[in-house]
Amino acid sequence: MWLSDHRLFLLCIVCGLYFSLQFTTGHADSNAGRTLNQEGGDHQIHCSRERSRTAWKIIQEYLMPFVEKEKYHISKRCRLHPDNDIYRDQEQHKFHTDINEWQCGFCKKSFYEEKHLDQHFDNRHSNLLNLSESQCIADVCGALHCDHEMNSGSKKSKCNPAAAAKNKHLCESLADSCFPVTEGPAASRLHEFFLHQFCDAHSCTGNRKPFSRGRRKKTNVFYIFVSILLVILLLLYYLYIYLYQRGMKRETQVLKRVSQASRKKKPS
Ligand SMILES: [Zn+2]
Repeated sequence: MWLSDHRLFLLCIVCGLYFSLQFTTGHADSNAGRTLNQEGGDHQIHCSRERSRTAWKIIQEYLMPFVEKEKYHISKRCRLHPDNDIYRDQEQHKFHTDINEWQCGFCKKSFYEEKHLDQHFDNRHSNLLNLSESQCIADVCGALHCDHEMNSGSKKSKCNPAAAAKNKHLCESLADSCFPVTEGPAASRLHEFFLHQFCDAHSCTGNRKPFSRGRRKKTNVFYIFVSILLVILLLLYYLYIYLYQRGMKRETQVLKRVSQASRKKKPS
């Protein structure tokens, strides 16, 4: 009787501990969820992190090099401005420290895969998303050819004229809001560029491809390092040859003088 009471008591303690643990972890998550709901409803659920990332990558590779060249500043009204990407802050706190290591910049926790870090951001740091002001940059994916970028290599899907027209319209409105032609020659040039780079390809007729004006050229640091090293080695080699030949000349001159001196001495 005493033994069964004792077991029951232990079972109660274990159950109590388990439920209190469940409560604390669940409590933290529900807190994060509540902040999210308070700030902007379920915005986060409708905004794809992956597509936002692709849109950001396209902007960085196919647009920004040309914007920087013109020394033009994109305004916040433009949907391509970094402030209009709700995931920007989180993505900037993502560190790929090793092949299989992704670190959270907020709490320094590490993960084997990027998707697990994304999950961690959703679960633990969603209260840091600026939902009140920021927009979902993935919403302009249609105009920026995200599908083309994400599915490069796979076979082309059939062109839908209605979708192409809708994307072209969105694309042209981006060109107007980001690079208003009234803002001077740089804005006008970028407006023209944007139409060619992104908007012209939104058509089922004609064979125009997106990003016709090219992308950011990646300079390989390793390549530059090896080139510099080769040049230094080549210079050292020629310097050695030069010094060696100069040394040889001197030596022969000295030898000549010695032999001449000895010849002069011999007859006497
Ligand atoms: Zn974290």
